[in-house]
Amino acid sequence: MHYRTIQLAHLSKARITTNARYEAIIEGAAAGIIRIDGRGSMLQVNDSALHMLGYERDELLGQNVKMLMPARWGDHHDGYLSAYQTTGNKTIIGTGREVAALHKNGSTIPVHLAVSEVQYGHAQAVPEAREFIGILSDLRAVAAAREREAQERALLQVLHRGLTDYRALLSGNTLWGFLQEALQELTGSDYALIGEVIPKNGKPALKIHAISDLSWNEASRKLMEELRSGQMLLTGPNTMLGQVFTQGKMVLSNNIETDARGGNLPPGHPPLYRYLGVPIIDRGELIGMYAIANGKKDYDEALVQWLEPFTSTCALLINLYRQLSEQQRFTEELKVAKDSAELSSQAKTDFLSSMSHELRTPLNAILGFAQLLANGRQPLSERQQRQVDQILRSGRHLLNLINEVLDLARIESGHTQVSLEPIKLQELIDETAEIIRPLALEQQLQLDIIVDKTHTYFVQADYTRLKQILINLLSNAVKYNKPNGSITLSCVAIDGLMRFSIQDTGIGIAADHLDSLFEPFNRLGAETGSIEGTGVGLALTRKLARLMNSDVYVKSNPNEGSLFWFDLPITSVCSNPRIDTTETTILSVPAADSHQYKVLYIEDNPENQRLMQDLCSEITGVHLQCVYSAEIGFEVACSDPPDLILMDIDLPGMNGFQAQRMLKQNPLTSAIPVLAISASSAPQDIKCAEEAGFIGFYIKPFNLDEMTQHLKKILTQKDHS
Ligand code: ADP
Repeated sequence: MHYRTIQLAHLSKARITTNARYEAIIEGAAAGIIRIDGRGSMLQVNDSALHMLGYERDELLGQNVKMLMPARWGDHHDGYLSAYQTTGNKTIIGTGREVAALHKNGSTIPVHLAVSEVQYGHAQAVPEAREFIGILSDLRAVAAAREREAQERALLQVLHRGLTDYRALLSGNTLWGFLQEALQELTGSDYALIGEVIPKNGKPALKIHAISDLSWNEASRKLMEELRSGQMLLTGPNTMLGQVFTQGKMVLSNNIETDARGGNLPPGHPPLYRYLGVPIIDRGELIGMYAIANGKKDYDEALVQWLEPFTSTCALLINLYRQLSEQQRFTEELKVAKDSAELSSQAKTDFLSSMSHELRTPLNAILGFAQLLANGRQPLSERQQRQVDQILRSGRHLLNLINEVLDLARIESGHTQVSLEPIKLQELIDETAEIIRPLALEQQLQLDIIVDKTHTYFVQADYTRLKQILINLLSNAVKYNKPNGSITLSCVAIDGLMRFSIQDTGIGIAADHLDSLFEPFNRLGAETGSIEGTGVGLALTRKLARLMNSDVYVKSNPNEGSLFWFDLPITSVCSNPRIDTTETTILSVPAADSHQYKVLYIEDNPENQRLMQDLCSEITGVHLQCVYSAEIGFEVACSDPPDLILMDIDLPGMNGFQAQRMLKQNPLTSAIPVLAISASSAPQDIKCAEEAGFIGFYIKPFNLDEMTQHLKKILTQKDHS
């Protein structure tokens, strides 16, 4: 053979082999390959592409490739091709991108499409010389993975929000609605409900927390509302829901109409074709359920498994909801209890207040007359004296008890307010000592007072209440002392605090009694002895100290004595250049022949009037006039101004405060000193009395000696003015 012929034959054989190889590559490629000409007609479609798109080869060859594209692309494909061929404007050619391909069955398939151009010879002039090869990669698996990821993310978001925002969601009552909507969305269902299983008559019942609306008429709308409000519980065990919440069984059906477990829907109910009911179980206990219906796809076990985190989150949230509801119920109960306690405490205070008022008035007469008898001009026999002393002792005891009980009740009901202000220590100690010294003297006890006199201290306290505490503790130190014993009151500054200590050398307190020392009415056995007491003093003392942000502490050794102490803040301290001595005023009793003093007593109680008459008859030169009402008193005061008016507060008609106002406003009476005498020891009355301009305020029953001295002092001062 000629060499050139041999060469051509070789070449032709080689081309055939190459073509066959390319053909095999195209046909056997795992990706779909479609070759089209310059007009878009399909020249070649490989097996992968046919398989991917569901066609036979002869159904495609010669057809325009746009038949494999969804309309939104296919409709423009011819335009793209011709535009490219005239302008060279590439849209997809030479690159790759994700598009959708149209399957023969009408569904779309996500694919990656890379298109490249193949030219032979004069491609510009001859469109047939132009070809395009499209390589299609099936992205269905990738798309499914992406969708799964998006779903996971959506589920996670729901769980995250449900768990982190549950308080806010619960308080706004939106938690269940949020979960129900999320469930519907996550599963692509038309309907969803979430409910809690609670017992009703010993059987499980379903309380719906959230449900999508599937009402179809007025009656079913009402039913939905009742279900949503939680007023209506579902109890039927044989419904699609009932099987879940009564038996704790999962119910799954993708064909309810024919499912033996389904049906039972009332006429008019929207049709249900797919249904999934899932029990919510917490540590073996059925506590709730959720259900979905009419999903876009069939429900299956895989969905139930995928929803497991949702199911356990629901379990957690139902538990939290129950705890919060319980807490809320408890708080509400507490509030009701507190309100009623406050009411009854107020009622108790009111009762005690009025009782004490009722008791004080007759007690005033008893104590007053007993004092008059004891100090009267006609001497009493020894027996009579003893009897009068007994009346006085019992009366004072009763008075003390009334005062202390009332005080305690006021503090307990929160009606006692202390006014904390800087108190000059030395003044307070002097006044307290003045009261305690005679008591100590009477019992032949030594009273030592240790106060740093080189400095002036001010402590933060309520003056009257602090004095009351000191008097209580010191009088106990006197009462429970031993013959020839001693009492020490010391005030020592420690770290900005003033420590008040009251020490005695008395009988002491047994260690097992210390715990009940501050209990009201507990006298720790002293009730069988001869020492008088009520058992209220220490309880009151501690409460008063606590009102002043302090507390009372005790140490005691039986038979050796006791030490009580408490601390109060020092507000200021300065050193004293010289030590002041207190001035004492000695009262001079008016001479027998001095002029008459007119005293007007406005009092409606005849016994009290008589008592005052007896008292005044003991003071030389005093003429007492008694009137029964403030109105008459005012007339008398204007027509014949007295030297002093004694004014009862609780009067029929105009009361003592109103009368005092009238007296002060009238120039004829404004200068007359008026002393208030009242059976009420209520702090607001004392405050009113101070503001009304009374020169003093006596609480019945008052001490006759004290009153006598005071009257003498007022009248003497008036004499000198
Ligand atoms: P009262 O003295 O009116 O009985 P208190 O409340 O003041 O009531 O005191 C309660 C009880 O504590 C007293 O009855 C007494 O037994 C005991 N007690 C109080 N102070 C002392 C003290 N300084 N020494 C020994 N016992 C005391």
